[in-house]
Amino acid sequence: MLLKEYKDHFITALTPDYGLDEASSFFYLVLHHLHQLQRIDLVLQPNFQLSNEEIVVWNGFLEQLLSHHPIQYLIGATSFYGLSFHVTPSVLIPRPETEELVAWILQNHAAKPPISLLDIGTGSGCIAISLAHHLSNTQVYAMDISSKALEIATSNAALNQVEVTFLEQDILKIENLGNQFDVLVSNPPYVRELEKQEIKPNVLEHEPHLALFVSDENPLLFYRKIAEIALRSLTPEGKLYFEINQYLGAETVSLLQELGFKNIHLKKDFMGNDRMIQASLR
Ligand code: GLN
Repeated sequence: MLLKEYKDHFITALTPDYGLDEASSFFYLVLHHLHQLQRIDLVLQPNFQLSNEEIVVWNGFLEQLLSHHPIQYLIGATSFYGLSFHVTPSVLIPRPETEELVAWILQNHAAKPPISLLDIGTGSGCIAISLAHHLSNTQVYAMDISSKALEIATSNAALNQVEVTFLEQDILKIENLGNQFDVLVSNPPYVRELEKQEIKPNVLEHEPHLALFVSDENPLLFYRKIAEIALRSLTPEGKLYFEINQYLGAETVSLLQELGFKNIHLKKDFMGNDRMIQASLR
């Protein structure tokens, strides 16, 4: 079968669920993954044929996409802040909002790079690794409770040729970090059970709940714990950064005020939602 004929079949099948633009972008992502071809190659090689075996493989991708498997897990990779990352269902797929958090940290520390930085709940390692890539003299540490996530994060540090020290720890069980950090950053689980109906099936059915959900009763559990640790483990000029639940901006600010943090800034993401916070000790 001609690839260009299969293309129409693939995109037509996915369009009702995803819309034409996303269906087309899935086609090109799979095309690159399976054949290392780009959009232009279809024009340059109009007679490119798919063998029957190749069609079986393509149909496998099509079925998985129809059952809402995230494309990033199917091809095992995604990009974040201009870098490539391996992803598996053991880690959350990096989000564009989180790229904005990284950009904010880099802007704020451009003049005076931090000496040491810790990312808590690193997952794929996207925050720690992209910061390490841009802050060449910073000692970067990254912590996660999940050994499977840390395997992926370790492979991503190697892929991007940066040095990050990974720590397997449950932040909720730690009293002290045993070190002072200039920057503490975290994108902890923050989606409440009551928000589940807003979450799309590709996220809800396939991404790790450990990385996403918190109880309705105590949604700021991780924020309180990390902020309390930050009171003892930030250097005097150090800064704490959080990605936050868009509905809990005011509550998260109040929590930090209550704990005695100063210079608390709440920032919106590109969608106009409250999405990140910066705070310091003085
Ligand atoms: N923003 C993520 C989502 O869309 C949630 C990330 C998190 O819980 N830290 O599902």
